[in-house]
Amino acid sequence: MEIKFDGKRALVTGAGKGIGRATAKALVKCGAETYALSRTQADLDSLKAEVPTIHTVCVDITDWDKLRGVVKTLCPIDLLVNNAGVCTLAPFLEVSKEDFDYTYDTNVKALINISQVVLKDIIDRGSSCAVVNVSSIASSIAVFNHIVYASSKAAVDMLTKIMTLELGSKNIRVNSVNPTVVMTDMGKRNNWSDPAKSGPVLALTPQGRFAEVHEVVDAILFLLSDKASMINGTCLPVDGGRLVQ
Ligand code: NAP
Repeated sequence: MEIKFDGKRALVTGAGKGIGRATAKALVKCGAETYALSRTQADLDSLKAEVPTIHTVCVDITDWDKLRGVVKTLCPIDLLVNNAGVCTLAPFLEVSKEDFDYTYDTNVKALINISQVVLKDIIDRGSSCAVVNVSSIASSIAVFNHIVYASSKAAVDMLTKIMTLELGSKNIRVNSVNPTVVMTDMGKRNNWSDPAKSGPVLALTPQGRFAEVHEVVDAILFLLSDKASMINGTCLPVDGGRLVQ
């Protein structure tokens, strides 16, 4: 299935590393004029060196007012990938206010902020937009020490559904992809390469492995594309079947 985004403008958050970086590169390959937003300039510089036609934007998405101003200058955006995310792990009884604020500011509030700016502009123009929010299978299964991260991703799933409900009549589609573990920097930081941690999860995964970055990117591209023109408000697991049990 060939996906083309010629003439479209795309914005990917968290595009300095991992899934976001690969998604931004894939969007360029599909013909989209692509804005790669992240907070570490060195990552954006290396991305620009790899893909000279990409536009890079350095901003910390937890800065509500600054982010709003920056995103306004990028509009119109036809394809939005809310990918930037952080994962802090702690048992429920030890979660701090700081853990909670940092994770929700990044994973939930920034997603609302960016989407408001992009989608108000789309509605004013009478144009259309496809949005993909990068969630996680942690949104729907209980995993030890994941209280803050998993609940933030459960919030992302519900944001996806309510955005669909309120904006579906305005030529706006909003979906989530919900990956299992991917061995990006985040996957490595959270120690998923340790067999003692990964073994029990893999044992419950019919395909017996974690996801590759390109498998998540393909799901994102599909949901952004017209091939998914009647798919709206869904949370698509990319999990090798982990969620069946
Ligand atoms: P990653 O390798 O850690 O990359 C995340 C990117 O987001 C980095 O470029 C990071 O920049 C950027 N970012 C984080 N906070 C930011 C902020 N406040 N402002 C601007 N940029 C920010 O993570 P990943 O594995 O690619 O994860 C991407 C998404 O997939 C996340 O939403 C994550 O929750 C989700 N996900 C990941 C997995 C997994 O196992 N990897 C599984 C399911 C879902 P810096 O490096 O400069 O901080």
